[in-house]
Amino acid sequence: MASRKTPAGDGAAAGNPGARRISGTARPKAAAEGKGPAAGETRDPAAPGPAAAPAAETKAPDGPAGSRAAPGANGTGEAKRPGGKSARKGERKLKQIAVYGKGGIGKSTTTSNLSAALADMGYRVMQFGCDPKADSTNTLRDGTYIPTILELLREKGRVEAREAIFEGYNGIYCVEAGGPSPGVGCAGRGIITAVQLLKQQNIYDELDLDYVIYDVLGDVVCGGFAVPIREGIAQHVFTVSSSDFMAIYAANNLFRGIQKYSNAGGALLGGVIANSVSSGYQRAIVDDFVKQTGTQVMQYVPRSITVTQSELGGKTTIEAAPDSDQAKVYRELAKRVEAHEISTVPKPLDAQDLRAWAAKWSDQILAVERGEVRSAGAQI
Ligand code: ADP
Ligand code: MG
Repeated sequence: MASRKTPAGDGAAAGNPGARRISGTARPKAAAEGKGPAAGETRDPAAPGPAAAPAAETKAPDGPAGSRAAPGANGTGEAKRPGGKSARKGERKLKQIAVYGKGGIGKSTTTSNLSAALADMGYRVMQFGCDPKADSTNTLRDGTYIPTILELLREKGRVEAREAIFEGYNGIYCVEAGGPSPGVGCAGRGIITAVQLLKQQNIYDELDLDYVIYDVLGDVVCGGFAVPIREGIAQHVFTVSSSDFMAIYAANNLFRGIQKYSNAGGALLGGVIANSVSSGYQRAIVDDFVKQTGTQVMQYVPRSITVTQSELGGKTTIEAAPDSDQAKVYRELAKRVEAHEISTVPKPLDAQDLRAWAAKWSDQILAVERGEVRSAGAQI
């Protein structure tokens, strides 16, 4: 890569004169400076800590159904050096993660900050936008948009993977799957096509990636959106949810999808990223939901004006306000994702139980907020 996101780029990108495609396999800045993760730096995401959640039921990687370690997870605490090969010979180092959640819940914001934090830790990261809105990666690129794989295909008929990969903050590889023309075709088709294209052309190996993070719209129950889970492409799924019922409803639906494909080699659940969770009752609701469904909170991310400010400036918080408290929260999330090895099959609530659960919260929410009672699931 010749340079970081250059507003006056080579103009090669269709419909976006500012886009600059990748041309080499340059390493993120931190990696080039040797600022990689320290050897042996791993962490148990279920360990008690400020953001530790009720521990999920995890089992040994080769244990009975219900849990699965990522390919390449060796559990030895050996850190993966940026751009380097896995600590163990023959094992795969690439970690593929899918971030799901309802539209507008904060997936792209969280994913972009996660990608930026991982890149700053020295990892080689690709962020793969799987939302027909195709706006996943724009805060990694000074607010500019890149042409999507479907757009390029429509325009040219045939696309080389490298033509669809653009450079973002600190060397992050940015891809947008895109969607069909409005009103035509299946919105999930972009994901199927895009994933196939990059897989066929072996680009993940070629770029020697440490992380591919899929940012996927989670409230459309179409097969295309399940691709990162169903095809076993991602190893770990995280869902972004607030304490709002509709966000929890979407998360619960996602858990059903994960459960459905879990016996067929589908991705398993790493946990919930609790976004815009600031007050006590919000935390109590999310805590109770993860307890009921047998998962864990990966990180509590407060609602923050720093995020809004950064986004208005076309940047992630990691880039725009690296010393802010919010940036610390995203870096903490990145460390937890780095340490995360074992995902599990969630236990979604059926429609009736989810309704009853919500009704219980409707009754006790004010009492929890006033501090009169503590919910069973609350870690507050
Ligand atoms: P999604 O990708 O799930 O559709 P976005 O990441 O685009 O959602 O977020 C929707 C809006 O919410 C954006 O304007 C974003 O800046 C804002 N947002 C998300 N998370 C936070 C947060 N923690 N604090 C403040 N604003 C947030
Ligand atoms: Mg988005």
